[in-house]
Amino acid sequence: MMRQYELVERVRRYNPNTDEALLDRAYVYAMRAHGTQTRASGDPYFSHPLEVAAILTDLKLDDATIVAALLHDTIEDTDATREEIETRFGKQIAALVEGLTKIKKLDLVSRQAKQAENLRKLLLAIADDVRVLLVKLADRLHNMRTLKWVPEEKRSRVAQETLDIYAPLAGRMGMQDMREELEDLSFRQLSTEAYNSILARLQALKDSSGKVLSAIERELAEALAQKGVTAQVKGREKRPYSIWRKMEQKSVAFEQLSDIYGFRIIVEDTAQCYAALGVVHTKWPVVPGRFKDYISTPKQNDYRSIHTTVVGPGRQRVELQIRSRKMHEIAEYGIAAHAIYKDGASATEDLLTRDSSAYAWLRRTIELLAEGSSPEEFLEHTKLELFHDQVFCFTPKGRLIALPRRATPIDFAYAVHTDVGNMAIGAKINGKVSPLVSELHNGDEVEIITSPAQTPPAAWESIVVTGKARAAIRRATRVAVRAQYAALGRKIAERAFARAGKPFSEEKLAGALNRLARASLEDVYAGVGRGEIRPDDVIKALHPEWSGARPPEERAAAPRGEGWFELKRGQSLKFKIPGIEAEADPATAIPIRGLNGELPVRFAPNGGAVPGDRIVGILSPGEGITVYPIQSPALQDFEEEPERWLDVRWDIDEESPQRFPAQIVVTATNEPGSLAQIAQVIGERDGNIANLRMSSRSADFTRMVIDVEVYDLRHLNGILADLRARPVVSSVERLNA
Ligand code: MN
Repeated sequence: MMRQYELVERVRRYNPNTDEALLDRAYVYAMRAHGTQTRASGDPYFSHPLEVAAILTDLKLDDATIVAALLHDTIEDTDATREEIETRFGKQIAALVEGLTKIKKLDLVSRQAKQAENLRKLLLAIADDVRVLLVKLADRLHNMRTLKWVPEEKRSRVAQETLDIYAPLAGRMGMQDMREELEDLSFRQLSTEAYNSILARLQALKDSSGKVLSAIERELAEALAQKGVTAQVKGREKRPYSIWRKMEQKSVAFEQLSDIYGFRIIVEDTAQCYAALGVVHTKWPVVPGRFKDYISTPKQNDYRSIHTTVVGPGRQRVELQIRSRKMHEIAEYGIAAHAIYKDGASATEDLLTRDSSAYAWLRRTIELLAEGSSPEEFLEHTKLELFHDQVFCFTPKGRLIALPRRATPIDFAYAVHTDVGNMAIGAKINGKVSPLVSELHNGDEVEIITSPAQTPPAAWESIVVTGKARAAIRRATRVAVRAQYAALGRKIAERAFARAGKPFSEEKLAGALNRLARASLEDVYAGVGRGEIRPDDVIKALHPEWSGARPPEERAAAPRGEGWFELKRGQSLKFKIPGIEAEADPATAIPIRGLNGELPVRFAPNGGAVPGDRIVGILSPGEGITVYPIQSPALQDFEEEPERWLDVRWDIDEESPQRFPAQIVVTATNEPGSLAQIAQVIGERDGNIANLRMSSRSADFTRMVIDVEVYDLRHLNGILADLRARPVVSSVERLNA
């Protein structure tokens, strides 16, 4: 057991002005109060509050928090009273201990209604003073570490509560280390077999790749040092629970080192972060779609870092987090990092007022919860999601609808009722007519405008974020998709007949269904539209003597333009950008608005088009429509086949938050901070960097291919102009345009 002077020593290491006498008094008071009580392990009970205090010294917390930790079980488990604690240790500490006593009794895995109420109380206790939460988390961590001493029948309950409530709460407060350890300890209890099998796999992988890790660390560090970037590089094994969750979510096995290990590059300041990124992206190929700049756009829990994945040393995929020392501290300690003691002043004010968006979130959530909603409803959305990213919105009648962050009015509509979702044609947010694809914010009042004639466009599926909405849209659009294919197939068949110089007759075609092995005309048309039936075979079914399509020069003369595809407002589709690079993440998918109906639509590779570009659609039966900017050189390939050209137009809502991918090539001089400047220009102009690849042209210049997501051509041109204005930039051009 830790001795009195050892505890004081630990605190003094980070807080030279600690009130030693106060710590001593609390130590003795708690030790005497717990007296001869023992824990299930047989240890004196006092060892528990002492360990809790020790965990908090690792977070470098202030005296009041350490003392509260020592005293946290005294009111509940001993003769001590709040009055006595207040007399001896003051009001602030007494309030902390009382807060902890209150939440100790809360059972967070009980019957739903009660659980919801308890959760609300927990949040309220935390809101009074966030240090209550810090002590509670340390208390729970120690209890989880010593879970084997808890009676068997209680273990899973404690673990479940930890996984549902405390681990997400720690994460939401930005305390990643704490969250991960809590998750792992719970996981071990709740899914022992899964936990053990992952541990075994991890060990096997470690045995076979042990040296690779340090080799990667060394090579990264050397590459950085060569370019004058001083950095600490550290490989880090992911925890069993996070590996398991990834396997579960993506239903994949872990096979690659990058699934198991992440590397951190810790540097002195922000400029060095971008310098390090430059070195890494110049030296190794980048894995597309993995680049995230959380420095220019921090997460809600204050997390800042650059994430990227490269095919690094030894041809291994290497996941990298690049951050400064200060960002690292916040990433590890979260809200506790704001409390790190300084200048002998109390840390409380800091905790309450410092610009911590995690704490702001807590306050906001509690204010909303205090306003009502039934406990069951509250809980349903709370248990896991509350602590991730969530927004609370209201119906005009005041019903609370909780949705994950980035939810849209479409999600809202489906959350109210499936029929409301299916018939939604518009929305008013806080009384103002707004696009259905807007992002909802906390406190928004949302009114859904419906029309019985509406069927949900398939493209909504890629816009919504809730599973309920997605499933309903999929159901409702399956029929509509088929009808669209049939309509397309019918047009293709008609044209084919015209080309062949044969009259087109639905009546006769209906008599030839057998020959095409289809049950209905619609089946035939859908088959043609999907590319499963060749138009020539449809003609032959009616005219067996017919010898086939005429030569291309006659086809080229065929009338073009009939049946142009009209664009309808508010419709959108999900499509893929194939093969931007060989290793492109197959999940790269972007919604587009403005193209007709439910046919698969995609942009041509290499950036495609953005609203404002003149565009052309090229039809491929069975594949759908590929959209090219009119100036694209790739269009030459289709000049001989005018019947495949579709006249398409944008019809974009100016207010739409929709972004479109463009590719730009920037050549910049090699000097410190040039990459940071470029990222900053794009960020300030509200462009989103989706990916960034670099190559050194010469000692003096670096060429960067940047996938930037923009609203439209004007937006893109603004970014290009701003980039050109920078002295470090020697040229900027748009790729393929
Ligand atoms: Mn305790």
